[in-house]
Amino acid sequence: MLDEQLRRVDRQILGDVYTSEEGFVTLEELCDRFGSRFPGSPEEREAADFLLGKMIQYGLSDVHLEPVEYLAWERGTAELECLSPQAKTMECIALPHTGTCDLTGEFMSIGAGTPSEFAAYADRIKDRIVMCSARSPAYVRRELHRREKIGRAISLGAKAVIFMRDTGGFLEETGSTVTGRECPIPAISVSKEIGEELRRLQKHGPVVLRLRLDNRFMREVGHNVVGDIPGNTLRDEIILAGAHYDGHDISVGAMDNGSGTVMILEAARALAQSGAGLPRTLRFVCFFAEEIGLIGATGYVRLHPELHNKIRFMLNVDGVRGNQNGIALQGWPELIPFFSRIAADMKQPMTVDVAMARGSDVFPFVLSGIPSGGLSDMGEVRTERGFGHTRADTLDKVSNRTIQHNAAHIARLMLRLAVLDQIPAQRKSAEEIQALFAEANLLEAIRMSGRGVFEDTESL
Ligand SMILES: [Zn+2]
Repeated sequence: MLDEQLRRVDRQILGDVYTSEEGFVTLEELCDRFGSRFPGSPEEREAADFLLGKMIQYGLSDVHLEPVEYLAWERGTAELECLSPQAKTMECIALPHTGTCDLTGEFMSIGAGTPSEFAAYADRIKDRIVMCSARSPAYVRRELHRREKIGRAISLGAKAVIFMRDTGGFLEETGSTVTGRECPIPAISVSKEIGEELRRLQKHGPVVLRLRLDNRFMREVGHNVVGDIPGNTLRDEIILAGAHYDGHDISVGAMDNGSGTVMILEAARALAQSGAGLPRTLRFVCFFAEEIGLIGATGYVRLHPELHNKIRFMLNVDGVRGNQNGIALQGWPELIPFFSRIAADMKQPMTVDVAMARGSDVFPFVLSGIPSGGLSDMGEVRTERGFGHTRADTLDKVSNRTIQHNAAHIARLMLRLAVLDQIPAQRKSAEEIQALFAEANLLEAIRMSGRGVFEDTESL
């Protein structure tokens, strides 16, 4: 494509996206008509059909659903009772893949659940109900994922685990525990206020808790939604943009990740409707069931070994807050100058660096050695989720301006990834990927997060 043509398409995309309300209206429909779109719910399947219709309406090619079988989970009742030193009931919610139980045990709080806190209390955790907060303290210098904390509690023989939100507002913070089977111990979440009360109760003697949970498991089939803008000369080289469309069952998941879904759809719409003939194929995938263990994306990578050498870049859009101008590469530092040139060409600042993520759909692509990155602002160490994963992740937190900004950014990036002569990144071998995670000091954390359940990490 000639430079002049690129500028014309660029202006067309920008004009289209910034004068459109389509993304926001689609997000309203996703949230108001289909609720949480939680894996296994009827609304999840209806949302998949709705997104399929949108891709067809936008003029994408080969639009289809791809089924993946998995173990789904349905929330029942959760009751937390303090028996001593003071009798009272306390609000809580179960975390996904927690089973059914009626147990009594002594409570202990282990701060933020850092690796050193777990090590310090290792000999006292067995048979206790342990609580750690959702915090990733800045001094640990990396994100401490909930799954890693739960994994450490399991490995030390805890009877149950309480995950305490770190921000006030009487909101419980949900999130996945293990994937593909029942969590080996019950895991619940409490608000910061309830967690702090539990900590205070310890001053008056041993805190004994009774926990009664009732939840259900089912085998289900979920659906990834896939659509293409086929390339005309390098058709076999694919640039893939992905976003998960499911939310947690306690909210409508407007930010995480209804907004990411409509951002890639808006980018797809603007690119398809620009009518630009592009050398490489652009593929857009709305993944299901990210929130209970990256099931849609993992299924996609497993079901398509033939694509592992063809996907030249995977751009993940998840849990976006505010305007994003950066890319968090998952390895492949050789792409930093490449994206810096793209930023210069787009005439806007863009922060590009390597920051390994384990908690989103990009992870199975990285494990398969596919050059990948996430849309990010790269601006700060993220130590909390805002309203994500709480019942307050609602539509009023998202504006059309944010959708327009990020959709335009994604579309302009995809345009350049589709037309530039060379993408200077090669697929990595399993050994190279292992070395990447070792270098980032993440191997033990990944093992803990999986607890031997997330099969793709067993080899790490
Ligand atoms: Zn998400």
